[in-house]
Amino acid sequence: MQFSELGLSAPLLKAVSALGFASPSPIQSQAIPVILSGKDVLAAAQTGTGKTAGFALPIMEKLSSGQKPGGNNVRALILTPTRELAAQVEDNIRGFNEFLDLKTTVVFGGVGINPQMKRLRGGTDILVATPGRLLDLYQQNAVKFDQLEVLVLDEADRMLDMGFIHDIKRVLKLLPAKRQNLLFSATFSPTVTALAESITQSAVKISVAPPNTTVEEVQQILVNVDKSKKVGALTALIKQQKWRQTLVFSRTKHGANRIATRLTNSGIPSAAIHGNKSQGARTRALSEFKDGTVNVLVATDIAARGIDIAQLPVVVNLDLPNTAADYVHRIGRTGRAGASGQAWSLVSADELQQLKDIETLIQKLLPRETLSGFEPDLKLAETTLSAPKKPKKPKKPKQQKEANAGDKKPQAKASPSRRRPARRKPARASTGSHAS
Ligand code: AMP
Repeated sequence: MQFSELGLSAPLLKAVSALGFASPSPIQSQAIPVILSGKDVLAAAQTGTGKTAGFALPIMEKLSSGQKPGGNNVRALILTPTRELAAQVEDNIRGFNEFLDLKTTVVFGGVGINPQMKRLRGGTDILVATPGRLLDLYQQNAVKFDQLEVLVLDEADRMLDMGFIHDIKRVLKLLPAKRQNLLFSATFSPTVTALAESITQSAVKISVAPPNTTVEEVQQILVNVDKSKKVGALTALIKQQKWRQTLVFSRTKHGANRIATRLTNSGIPSAAIHGNKSQGARTRALSEFKDGTVNVLVATDIAARGIDIAQLPVVVNLDLPNTAADYVHRIGRTGRAGASGQAWSLVSADELQQLKDIETLIQKLLPRETLSGFEPDLKLAETTLSAPKKPKKPKKPKQQKEANAGDKKPQAKASPSRRRPARRKPARASTGSHAS
C-alpha cells in the first residue's frame, strides 16, 4: 500500500514524503479512506502506531477545500488529555501543513490565555486543545463552533483516566449535532465504549496491533537494591552500560527533582518533568532530552503520558508504581516500532507487594540480577506466580482514575508451570548473578 492510493492530494503526499514516511502504517491505510468518506470512526490504536497522521491527514484533506473559518470559528477540534500530547499533535499537523495553507492552533492550560485568545480571533481550521482550557476560552467567547465539521477525541481512555469525562460532556453540548466524530483510544474499557457509543453514529471500527506487545518484546530486568542506594545504583548502571537516552520513572514529583539533581551532580546531564513544573520548563526538558543535551529524563507517571519519543532504548523504574497497570504503561515507552528495548526496575525489599501485583498482571516473574557493589542488605523475598486477578467492574465516573488503571488485560501468555523464567542476560550487562 502506498500513500498515493489513499485518496490524499499532492500537497499532503509531498509533505508526508518530505517527512520521510515511505508507506502508510496499518492504522493509516485503514483509517484514512474511511475518514475521507465522512464516516465516524472508533479506532483502537496506541501512540507509536502513526495514529496522529491517521486522523490528521484525512481531516486536512477535507479542510483544504470548503469555506475558510470565520472570526473565532473552528472547523476541526482535536481534544487530547495532556498538554504535551496537544503540543505534539499540533507539531505533527504543522509538518503535514507544509504545502497547504491551513491555520492550526494549539491551546492548553498552564500558560497565558491571552496569546491563545488573540490567535483564535481570526478563526482556525484545526484546533488542538485540552478540555479545561478549551472551556475557559469558550466562556470568554474566544472560540465558536458554528462551522465545526470534525471532532477527534485522542487517547480517549487517558482522558477518562484523568477524570475529564465531565469536561468532555460539556464540550460536546457546545458542538453542532451534525459533525464527523473520530475516537482514538489505546484500550476499550466499558467506560470508553459507553462514551464512544454516546458520541458516534454507525462508526466504523478499526483496530491495529500495538507497536509492541510490551511484556513479550521488552527485555525486563529486576535489580534488588536497598532503598537508600537506589540513586547510586542508577548512576553506576548508566555509566557502566553507557546509556544515552534513558527515561527514569519516579513515583513522586519531589523524588524526580532530587534524582535529576543527583545524576547531574554525578556528571550525567538530567532533567525532571512533572506536574509542578511550568509548561515552559516541561517543553524545554523534553526537547533537550530529544536532542541529547540531557541524557536522562526523570518523570512521574502522569507527566510521561503522551510523550512521543520514538524507540527509547532504556526505561528505568527507580521505584515500582503503586498500580501494576502503570508498570505496563511505563515499559511500553521502550522498544517502539519493532526495536527491542530494556526495562530495568530497581526494587527494594519493601516493594514486594507492588512486585507481586505486577508479576500477577503480566503473568511473568521478572528475572533478577544483582549489581556488584550494590548488593542489598535487605533481600527482596522470592515470589511465585499466582493466577491472574479478575478485572474489576468499572466504578462510577468520579472514581474512574483508579478503576480504569486496572482495566488493562495481561498482555503476556500465562506460563503457570514455570516458576521462574529463564534468565536472559541483558546486552552488555556487567551485573552479577542473583545469589539465591
Ligand atoms: P503517533 O502514533 O501518531 O504518535 O506516531 C508515532 C511516530 O511515528 C511519530 O514520530 C510519527 O512521525 C511517525 N510516523 C507516523 N506515520 C509514519 C509512517 N507512515 N512512516 C514512518 N513514520 C511514521
